[in-house]
Amino acid sequence: MSQKKLSNSLKNQMLRITLIPLAIMTTIIVSFSVSGLYTITADKAEEELIRDADLAMYVFDTVYVGEYWAEDANGDGVLEMYKGEQPINGETTLLDELGKKLEIDITIFYNDVRLLTTLKDAEGNRAIGTNASVIVKNDVLEAGQSKFYENVLIYDVKSCAFYRPIKDDKGQISGMVGVSRSKESVKREMFIYTGPVFIVCIVSALFIGFIMAYFHKKLAERISKMNKYIDSLANGEFDVAMPRELTQEDDEIKVLANDGKRMARAIQTLVNYDALTELYNRRYADKKLEEIRVDALERGTKYCVCISDIDFFKKVNDTFNHEMGDYVLKRVADKLKAGMVAKGFAARWGGEEFLLIFENFELEIARRDLEIIMSEVRTIWIPNSNQQITMSFGLTALIPGENIDEFLKRADANLYEAKANGRNQIICK
Ligand code: GH3
Ligand code: MG
Ligand code: MG
Repeated sequence: MSQKKLSNSLKNQMLRITLIPLAIMTTIIVSFSVSGLYTITADKAEEELIRDADLAMYVFDTVYVGEYWAEDANGDGVLEMYKGEQPINGETTLLDELGKKLEIDITIFYNDVRLLTTLKDAEGNRAIGTNASVIVKNDVLEAGQSKFYENVLIYDVKSCAFYRPIKDDKGQISGMVGVSRSKESVKREMFIYTGPVFIVCIVSALFIGFIMAYFHKKLAERISKMNKYIDSLANGEFDVAMPRELTQEDDEIKVLANDGKRMARAIQTLVNYDALTELYNRRYADKKLEEIRVDALERGTKYCVCISDIDFFKKVNDTFNHEMGDYVLKRVADKLKAGMVAKGFAARWGGEEFLLIFENFELEIARRDLEIIMSEVRTIWIPNSNQQITMSFGLTALIPGENIDEFLKRADANLYEAKANGRNQIICK
């Protein structure tokens, strides 16, 4: 019987048991770690922008002492901006230096108009004179609040930005300082933190997954080998070797494999042996006869076959009882078994008949050995009686090429002749 392909093999189940929870666990760990780090990085970006804005204001206050103020001196609508006594229109050197050092854009607004800025468009034109968005104007200038924006469009670039209002010496809001970083640069920084965590999590998960899959695969393979082994035993192939992998670990698979082997031996005994006499049974003898027929033909091995029968056995049962009959059968079987050691084998052929096979024996030698066995049988007496047990034997040599029926018939004919001649003798031809 060939092994059926399983629709849900243990190997697949084990792989699923391993990989699905691992994938879920990895996803959860990666999501939590990455989102946590993302928040930390975003908070850090905010803190840095606030700190940078304060630093820019402090540096400006230190270099240009005094308040921010502006006037339209020429009345042409172009504002002149001052800090203290110092006109600061076009004074971008300090701003540029600071911006470069801090890797941010810095803008100084007069009201909502950019008067000094490091912001430039693609052509390199500064964003001087452009306005802050209405939202910023409302939040910072109108409400007078410092404000951080995580996602804001500044001069067509997605950015995060922080604005702090600038107040003059009368406490009036005259403008604001805005610092910003492109979202791109924040994302890059986020990736610097989250990237390694992500990669370490994924690589670790792959590594753990590989190890788990490897061990589960090995276990599943052992179970599959176990399955094949038991299948062979179930098919009656009792001589099949137990795969080494089954016993290499001291575990339940080893116990199962050994139990399987013991079970096979027990079945083998039941199948091949006669329960009463513990000799081989007829089924086994038939198999053996076919083997010796082939062996004699192919290799020329000399075999002698003998059918033997207990004399007047019915009388034993009738005179004594069936149990005594069984006792006699066992005693006879023991004598035959002992007599055949290193010569061949004995089997219970049926009832009180036994088959003896002499392997590698010339007929005359087999006959001499059989005489010893015959005299051994004669030593059996029914307990507490004067009843001796004797047997008749029909012995013949196997002729290579003849079939089993032919040589059994000859042995049977010899046995019949032995009986007819008065029993308790060997007829050999
Ligand atoms: P012969 O010398 O011609 O062989 O005479 P016999 O009495 O031995 O032959 P027969 O065939 O008439 O009787 C065989 C008896 O063996 C009959 C049967 O009841 C008995 N017998 C067969 N198997 C068993 C068994 O397992 N146990 C017992 N106690 N008796 C058995
Ligand atoms: Mg008989
Ligand atoms: Mg008999």
